[in-house]
Order: sequence, then structure tokens, then C-alpha cells
Amino acid sequence: MLKNRSSRLKRFFEEYSLKAVLFTDLKNIRYLSGFTGSEGVLLISQDHEWFLCDSRYTAQAAEEIRSAEVRECGAIRIDTVAVLANEYGLDRIGFEAAHTTVSAFRRMSEKLVGIELVELGTNLDEIRICKEHDEIEHLRSVATLSSLALTSVLDDIKPGVREVDIALALEFEMRRRGAEGKAFDFIVASGERGAMPHGRASDKIIQSGDLVTIDFGALKNGYNSDETVTVACGKPETRAREIHAIVKIAHDLAIDAVKSGVSCKDLDEVARSYIRDNGYGDYFGHGLGHGIGLEIHEMPTLSPRSTAVLEEGMVITIEPGIYIPGFGGVRIEDTVVVTIDGCDVLTSADKQLLIL
Ligand code: ZN
Ligand code: ZN
Repeated sequence: MLKNRSSRLKRFFEEYSLKAVLFTDLKNIRYLSGFTGSEGVLLISQDHEWFLCDSRYTAQAAEEIRSAEVRECGAIRIDTVAVLANEYGLDRIGFEAAHTTVSAFRRMSEKLVGIELVELGTNLDEIRICKEHDEIEHLRSVATLSSLALTSVLDDIKPGVREVDIALALEFEMRRRGAEGKAFDFIVASGERGAMPHGRASDKIIQSGDLVTIDFGALKNGYNSDETVTVACGKPETRAREIHAIVKIAHDLAIDAVKSGVSCKDLDEVARSYIRDNGYGDYFGHGLGHGIGLEIHEMPTLSPRSTAVLEEGMVITIEPGIYIPGFGGVRIEDTVVVTIDGCDVLTSADKQLLIL
């Protein structure tokens, strides 16, 4: 099965006339080879694959990797890449420009004498854009776990509690339910802090009447989940109810519009135009969503500038929001799998305005 993944590189071999592609990004390496460790490089030619690591990882690599030949090498793996390149005539090698530091590039250029290095941009990450069945099941499993964890901490959201206490309780519940960890630092933004789309959980004490936006996700089997609810702690103001209702409808309209063949730009516009028509266009400053998988933010991006078109198997978030400085904000987010005629929603926490 993983063999079939490296066949997705075919178009890069053709388009750039490559003899091989060198991978150093661990998410791409995991995707292509199955290796879950934290060090190593993967070199893929048209008819062979090598995984290079030091002695700490050879046993693990031999167990996890089926498609590539595992070679133990010294601390400077690029020396072994040079040896292989010379031995197999790999004189034109593509590399992940978006994941390579300037100093790593200099080192490669020095060591790979006589070899042309070809920059492959972020479009290389497109090989992961459509998820396979087992990946969707991993994404479903982590999303379910994460949604249940959120539901089990809702009772903890009450006046007098700090935002960070909610974040800690949520992380504990995720770990207890089998998560390897959290997907990112949770956002718990209450009251006026809700106007910050990325307001990480702080020491702020939640007050009665506050809207509380919680953006959270877990990590399991290498896959991430991403979901946001905005709840009210005590009776919310009329305006808070109003913006929640607008965001909820924008979110629902966008989810209803998801299907294979729809452009990401048009999908963004479905939610954005509803928010704009209701007078809050200036308060929705970010894109509608993003792809998710081994990384929390993957391709495609959903925004007014997107050029991608949805395809079956893409897994994306739908997360419209309204953020009003000095007042607060609302965001509602679900993760969905794109299908031929619609989508399959993976996240399941209640998105109605819960009054706690
Ligand atoms: Zn999120
Ligand atoms: Zn997100």
C-alpha cells in the first residue's frame, strides 16, 4: 500500500526530469515509508527507495518500513546520499524546498558535488492531499475521541474557573481516552478575549455571561483532529446570541455546499457572503478552513485566494468566525471528509449555543 504512495511522485519525476527525490520532512517520510521515528532521510528513485538513519533507529526502521532498503549510516546522512547518488547515477535530485533550512541546503550543495539539486515547492505536499481509507479511519478515530473529551469537560466551564483549567481538563480527558497528545495548544478565549481568533488559554477567570471559544484537537496514530465550539457561560447578551446564530448558519451552509468538484474559493464565499450580508463581513478576517492529516494545517487552504478544487478523500475543516474587538467572538469548526456528493462530518461536539 505504501508502495502505491510513492507512485504519487511520478508526476514530479516527469515534470522536473528527476532521477530521485530526497525527503527530510518527517511527516512526508512517515507518509511514504511508514517510519514513525524522529530522525532519518528517505531517498526515492524511479525504481528504488533507501531509508538512511543512524544506529538508534535501524531496528525500528527495519520493523516499520517495507518499501525502502534501510541503511545505517553515520551522523552526516548526506554523505551516504552522495555515495548512493554516485553509485546509481542519480545526478538530478529534487528536495523539499519548503522544509529545508538555508544551512541544510548549503550543506547539501557542498556534499552533493556534481549533482543538480531541484527545488520542489509546497506543491510536493500535495501528495498527501487526498486521504486513503486507513487515513480517514485514523482521522475519524481521533476526531471522535477529541469530541467526546470536550463533551465530558463541559460541566467544568463555569464562572470563576480559569481558561487554562479548561484546557488542562480537556487534555487530560484526551490522554485518558488514548490520545498520544494534543494536536496544538488549545484556544480557550472567553469574554473580550474571544475577539482574538488565536487566543491561547490564559489565566483569565471566566465570568458569567462570557462566550467561551474552545478550539481543540488531539493526536493519535500520527493524525490530528481539529474542532471548535463557542459556548455561553451563563445567560449571553443579545448580540452574543446574534453573532453565534450567524456563524452557525454560515458554518451549516458551507458544510451543505461541500462536495467533490466545488472550488475552495467558492466554498469560502458561501460562508463569507452570509456573514457579510448580515453586516459582519469586516469581522471575519481568516480563511474558511484548511486540510488536516499528519499535520494540523495541510493542503488545501480554503480562502478567497484559494485555487484548489475539492476532491473525494480530502479532509478539511470548516471554521467561520466573527471577532469583534472589545466585545468578543464566535468560531464554530468541524472537520469533514469530502465525498462525491457531499461530506462526512468527523467531529461531533454539539454546535448549538450551549448555555452552561
Ligand atoms: Zn481549530
Ligand atoms: Zn482549524
